[in-house]
Amino acid sequence: MNASLHSKNTSHPQKSLRALSTIPIALLAAFALALMLPATMRAQLDASARQLSREIFQQLVEINTTDSVGNTTIAAQAMADRLLAAGYPAADVFVGGPTPKKGNMVARLRGTGARKPLLMICHLDVVEARREDWSVDPFKFLEKDGYFYGRGTSDIKDGDAILMTMMLRFKKEGFQPDRDLILALTADEEGGDFNGVDWLLKNHGDLIDAEYILNPDAGNFESENGKKLLLGIEASEKLYADFTLEVTDKGGHSSEPTANNAIYHLADGLVKLQHFQFPFELNDVTREYFKRKAAIQVGETGAEFIAILKTPPDQTAIAKLSESPFYNARIRTTCVATRLEGGHAYNALPQMARANINCRILPGHSAEEVRQQVAKVVDDPQISIAQRDPDRAPTKINPTTQLGPEMISAIEKVRDQMWPGVPVMPEMDAGASDGAFTRSAGITTYGVPGVFGDINDDRAHGRDERTQVSDFYEGVDFYYRLVKILSTKN
Ligand SMILES: [Zn+2]
Repeated sequence: MNASLHSKNTSHPQKSLRALSTIPIALLAAFALALMLPATMRAQLDASARQLSREIFQQLVEINTTDSVGNTTIAAQAMADRLLAAGYPAADVFVGGPTPKKGNMVARLRGTGARKPLLMICHLDVVEARREDWSVDPFKFLEKDGYFYGRGTSDIKDGDAILMTMMLRFKKEGFQPDRDLILALTADEEGGDFNGVDWLLKNHGDLIDAEYILNPDAGNFESENGKKLLLGIEASEKLYADFTLEVTDKGGHSSEPTANNAIYHLADGLVKLQHFQFPFELNDVTREYFKRKAAIQVGETGAEFIAILKTPPDQTAIAKLSESPFYNARIRTTCVATRLEGGHAYNALPQMARANINCRILPGHSAEEVRQQVAKVVDDPQISIAQRDPDRAPTKINPTTQLGPEMISAIEKVRDQMWPGVPVMPEMDAGASDGAFTRSAGITTYGVPGVFGDINDDRAHGRDERTQVSDFYEGVDFYYRLVKILSTKN
């Protein structure tokens, strides 16, 4: 199957080359490359790989893994069964979790041990989805008009299916990597109290010990109306922290107001915070991001990217980019009021006023450092400021991860084979992923989606979630190629 497809398609460019012999060599080379590309892609992703990946994808979408009524153990066990049936030894396939419904799966393909293992993490759980909110059944896998529909088709059961297919193909081929390849499919990334990555780190660190990690559920492979724009690799992310600002007072009768009103104290503090901006700061990842993005960004914004990279950075450009919530979040720590409560009766002076501040902290800074900064800005000893739930989220300083040369060259190599000319871009996510746990534990982590998504059609967490069929199969091909490069010494 492979061989016949390959030879059939490569005959075309040769014929074309002879006919077009007057055209400059460089142009011909590009032309020939463009013609040959689909052939190489199809040669790799044969019908059986397509079918296998689709079957796994369907199976996973149709196992409900929501926090409310779902069960990740069933999905984890189903994937473990596939690996065992394919010849993975029982000792290399683990299913376990803190509760019966919150199982995780870890599988290992043994390599020569020349290098430290490579770990891939991807969550099995999905966001809640109600049948009445959707136009189709969210837990029935459906292919329609070039899309796969169902909860998890873009977040992130596509990634689970892609990585599972890769592990099964490697085993079938007898591929021996030069390092162990570990796959961890986990619970409770979207919600719930039993984050699987956190649980594995704390309870089975030996199972997932690795030189670095790939996570398909971070970063952005962006496309727009079928045009592929960029390959965004998440090389860093901000740290998440909530703070409770609280004022208490003895209260009293509202007919005789006092100067010490808890609501006014809190409101004054919040207004000060509203007008405060954390300082502009770039790191290795965002610096490289703005440098590379400037090359493809049209108009004034591109010039602003270059201006903020100067020493000293251009203040006008910083101010301009700060107007965009997207860019503002990438050049500074942010804190914003998200919840408010207070008072206990319409006719009483408030005994309590409380607000929640949600902060997204730049790598290299700690939650405690930000808490102290907020206290300085609010500048009111009556307002207490405490981090909410400090034990739940990773609270250590999030180290900046550099886009390592091995990783960037491997991704560019696959890019050249599959999507020539599409720029590779290191990114720092403003939001948090499971990478927060692994980075906090000191393990270098890269968010590498593999699957393109249209920037105007992101339905993750929403209704009628979907992924384009061709993008999914290209993701299957992409990960197979990338991990092979990363586990083969050349
Ligand atoms: Zn996700």
